Amino acid sequence: MSKRVAIYPGSFDPITYGHVDLIQRATQLFDRVIVAIATNTRKATWLGVEQRLILVKEALNANPQVTVLPCAGVMVDFAKQHQAVAIVRGLRTAADYENEFQLAGMNRQMAPEITSIFLPASNEYAFISATLVREIVMLGGDVTSFVPQVVMQRLREWHKLTE
Ligand code: ADP
Repeated sequence: MSKRVAIYPGSFDPITYGHVDLIQRATQLFDRVIVAIATNTRKATWLGVEQRLILVKEALNANPQVTVLPCAGVMVDFAKQHQAVAIVRGLRTAADYENEFQLAGMNRQMAPEITSIFLPASNEYAFISATLVREIVMLGGDVTSFVPQVVMQRLREWHKLTE
């Protein structure tokens, strides 16, 4: 039987425990999960794509079911290229739901063969947002509870360099 591949796209600016949890749960549903790091989002990112790639790879600690790749183009084209059957996204709030529902509708129109799957955020991570993590790091605060230790160490190093 062919392997079932899912894409998990996002900015991961930086990766948090919420993202890691979603990736782990997605690996229970699919044979392979490709974490697609968006390189040309509308939002200007805090970290460069190379930095975001390093952090995601380090946080996932070489899980053999997961591949981490940059994605420059349209998400559904990337998904087709990798023979993915699904796009996985996380839902934390009603605002997430509204954005995600719209995005899924447009993606479905462009690629009906690819299904969007929404996983509800786990209780313990539902409040974590990469945006708030960024702000706390920039203010010199402690993000130990929100990101894996390797990520925190890197962010500290990089933040010191730009201070
Ligand atoms: P984007 O910029 O595409 O929203 P993010 O990196 O912020 O990318 O998030 C990628 C996906 O992960 C989105 O579907 C988002 O809703 C989900 N996500 C982000 N943080 C969490 C969390 N704490 N728990 C569950 N899902 C999350």
